[in-house]
Amino acid sequence: MKRVFLKYFNLLLDKILYRSFVLIEGDSLPKQMPLRTIVVAAEDDEFWCVGLKCPCGCGYTIELPVIKEAKPRWDIKFDSQNKISLHPSVFLKKGCKSHFWIKNGKVIWCE
Ligand SMILES: [Zn+2]
Repeated sequence: MKRVFLKYFNLLLDKILYRSFVLIEGDSLPKQMPLRTIVVAAEDDEFWCVGLKCPCGCGYTIELPVIKEAKPRWDIKFDSQNKISLHPSVFLKKGCKSHFWIKNGKVIWCE
């Protein structure tokens, strides 16, 4: 019951609040991923990966390579207010099958 509530609450928060991000230095994502904050990992002054907990609340940690050599890879952008955007959309083929965009710090769901 608590889980269902948290999930609903999280989805609600995404409608009204932006997601912030943290920059970490290293070659792996933290074992304990923050619930709502997007983790941007850099190594040798280059972004290589973006990590976040699946915004549907399923608990899955999504790892998106942003390094040039990766395939598939995502483009990462920050606007003037430090809001994060990713391109293209994130589509999980397994599990919850979530499909969403991260645009200017917001999670935008694809129907
Ligand atoms: Zn999910």
